[in-house]
Amino acid sequence: MGATRTNPISMAIKGKGIANFLRRSVKIARHYGLTPRKMHRALDRFTDLLRRYECPATFPITALALRRHPQRIQQYAAEGFEFAIHGHRHVDHAQLSLTEHLDELAQAQSICEEAEIAARGFRGPYLHAAADTLMALRRRNLAYDSSQGLAWDVLDGRETPAYREGLKFYGALSAEVYPSLPELEEGLVRMPYSLPDDEALVERLPFETLAQMGAPWLAILERTCARGELFVLGLHPERIAACEGPLEAVLRAARGRSPAVWMARLDEIAAWWRARAAVEIEIAEAGVDQLHIVVNGPPGTIALARFVAIDAPTTPWADGYQQVAVSSFTIRAANRPFIGLAPDAPPVLVDFLRQQGYIVQISDDPQRYAYHLARTTFMAEDQRPLLAEIEGTDKPLVRLGRWPNGARSALAVTGDVDALTLWDYGLRFLGR
Ligand SMILES: [Zn+2]
Repeated sequence: MGATRTNPISMAIKGKGIANFLRRSVKIARHYGLTPRKMHRALDRFTDLLRRYECPATFPITALALRRHPQRIQQYAAEGFEFAIHGHRHVDHAQLSLTEHLDELAQAQSICEEAEIAARGFRGPYLHAAADTLMALRRRNLAYDSSQGLAWDVLDGRETPAYREGLKFYGALSAEVYPSLPELEEGLVRMPYSLPDDEALVERLPFETLAQMGAPWLAILERTCARGELFVLGLHPERIAACEGPLEAVLRAARGRSPAVWMARLDEIAAWWRARAAVEIEIAEAGVDQLHIVVNGPPGTIALARFVAIDAPTTPWADGYQQVAVSSFTIRAANRPFIGLAPDAPPVLVDFLRQQGYIVQISDDPQRYAYHLARTTFMAEDQRPLLAEIEGTDKPLVRLGRWPNGARSALAVTGDVDALTLWDYGLRFLGR
């Protein structure tokens, strides 16, 4: 690989600008010590707060840092915190060839194995992942990727040039255009990373008070709750002191929500998404305008129904839905309260709707369905408008809950561990 393409110093300068890079270098010297003590203290403080709110978390860690200091990481893992792969070395993976990717991942996986850390997922350094990265993750049997940045419009005009440069450098997409949801893509679950993260809040955006600094995360939580989406929060452990208040505000608000916010690790969310997308639903005629439905799903699978008479106990949920208490029940409805798709519907549309928990049937009889879509194309840009269209009207609908046990949205707290000591940091620059 070319030295300039993956040279982390030039990458860091590209991402942050030279003045920012120098300022950051001084901070790095303060964040990391010559021994891992400082980072252990940061991780202790971070995990103490998470434990108080019974919130699991995922820490993507650079494998070389793990190899140098495995003991404490093993303790956190034994307590239930997840560690994922944040590169073998902290280099720009978008610049690696497929062969280099496979090699880097194999080395990272063998370090994790040696340290007895079960790493199931990946986050690219600098949030970079290219098509070859995803292909390599699939070949190395990793379950998920969480590298795609997704920027929320929650800054009330506080965006700075430095923040915009950051979004560009990360290749972030807009959460106003794309839903913040997992996507099972050829066997790999992809989960977008919400921006602003801690680095943007602390270093790229101007805030005068802690409450101001916490507002964007609370706004993202609010929006993910309203839309039933996923908030992947990013907080590098070395910035826990600066961001403890904003994180605690999010955890407190999330714990107070009803229906619940599912707080989970990325590997749990990926496993759930995969299993729920594969749920089999049996539907049989049970008399005039009556259908019998049996849902065979993983534990936590629930059915939601609106504007449909059901012969089973239900409890009010949200957005006009009732949560059905059993997995086998009969409904009365003149039209099928599912989504009918014309036979020429593109497979990506069928797949997208099933992944959301909708019951999809292919039919050229629009009259039989409460919803019938006749679309011959479906792009990623059409996802958010389609979800708004389906959820925004008051037609009868029976569907599966997107999240387990009736949760309305999901929150994954994540913290990238680039290094544990100044030495790792130096080695990180040398790429060793
Ligand atoms: Zn990193």
